[in-house]
This record gives sequence, structure tokens and C-alpha cells, in this order.
Amino acid sequence: TDPSLTFQLLSTAHFAAVAHSQQRRKSPSSPAYVQHPLHVAALLASPASSLHPNPPIEVLQAAMLHDVIEDTETTVQELRERFGDVVTNIVLECSDDKSLSKEARKQAQIDHSPHKSDEAKHVKLADKLSNLTDLMSAKGRPAGWSVQRIQEYFVWSKRVTDSCKHVNPGLGEKLDEIYRNGTFEL
Ligand code: NDP
Ligand code: ZN
Repeated sequence: TDPSLTFQLLSTAHFAAVAHSQQRRKSPSSPAYVQHPLHVAALLASPASSLHPNPPIEVLQAAMLHDVIEDTETTVQELRERFGDVVTNIVLECSDDKSLSKEARKQAQIDHSPHKSDEAKHVKLADKLSNLTDLMSAKGRPAGWSVQRIQEYFVWSKRVTDSCKHVNPGLGEKLDEIYRNGTFEL
């Protein structure tokens, strides 16, 4: 293993943990938010992913950082200086435009995902796979979500990932398995 790659990966994980340190996931046990971006990176590196065994480091870094622009005080300039343009541009492709309403942001993800870079598509696939996995378990999902709300999230998520899955048939198959047979614990 290249020691500088190891250093870059671990310092990116550390940066994400610091950036998200004041945030919790929306579920009954309120886990540290950084659990989710780390899960997204781990899914991309996992044997189930078509990037295995040589995932590009920039994709893993962007996965760990995919919510820092959207959800933390981190600026684009800070990200560029620290991680460079390749990683920063993938993160920007994965960030919603917060000036839009929630409804418009959901539609924008459906409309824009077919036109994203392959790198951003990989991150989008793993991001949805992580969130769907959380939503399937009663303990993992946000408190108070109705069955209808969970179902709507599955339908929306499928519309986003169907235009991305060609870049990563491994994770695409995991997602399709969930859309076909996924059950949610009540
Ligand atoms: P979202 O549907 O956007 O919430 C899901 C997002 O929250 C995920 O994409 C994920 O994003 C993040 N998240 C945090 N914790 C968890 C977790 N434990 N499990 C899964 N995801 C988690 O909710 P909003 O509050 O933004 O609501 C927006 C939309 O929800 C509305 O436009 C409407 O369509 C719908 N809605 C439906 C209702 C219904 O009853 N049917 C009621 C209210 C809203 P990330 O990857 O960024 O962490
Ligand atoms: Zn996410």
C-alpha cells in the first residue's frame, strides 16, 4: 500500500469527522453524522462495488466529503486548497442547490443525475444505497417516517440511481435487489 494514499484517505476521514462534528443523523439513536459519509466510501471500496479492488482515491475522498458543502460551514475554496479540483468538483456535483425548495431539489437530482460525471455517479449510487439501508431498519430511519414516506423515498431514489447504475453494475445490482425485494422493518 502506498503510504501517501493511506495518509490522504485517513486525513480526509478526519476532515469529514471534524466538519460534521456538530451533526447527528436523523434516527432514534442520533448517531454521529460522519457515520454516513464513511459508509458511502466503504461501500465504494467494498467487494460488492465494481470499483473493487482498485477504487480511485479521489472517488473515495469525494464520498467522505460529499455532504460537507451542503451541510457544514466548509467552503468550496477550503476544499479546493485542501483536496484539489478533482475531489472538489465531484463533491460539488453531489451537492444540492440549497436555494431551491426541497421539492425542486428532489426533482433536480432526477433531472441532473444522467449528466453527471462517472465519478459523481459512483458517489450517488453509494449515497442512496447507504440511505436506503438506514431506511430499511426501524432503528436506522428517521423517527416518525410513515410507510408512505419511506416508499416515496424508495421510488425517488430509484429514479436517481437508474441513470447512474451503468457505471457500477455491482452497486447497481445491490440497489435493484433492494428495490425488488427490500422490506422495511416496522
Ligand atoms: P428527505 O426525504 O430529503 O430526507 C432524507 C434525507 O435525509 C436523506 O437523503 C439523507 O440525506 C438524510 N438522512 C439523515 N438521516 C437519515 C437516516 N437515518 N436515514 C436516511 N436518510 C437520512 O427529507 P426532507 O426532510 O428533506 O423532506 C423532503 C421531502 O420529503 C419533501 O419534498 C417531500 O417530498 C417528502 N416528504 C414526505 C412526507 C410524507 O409523509 N410522505 C412528509 C414530509 C416530506 P444525506 O445523504 O444528505 O444525509
Ligand atoms: Zn449522503
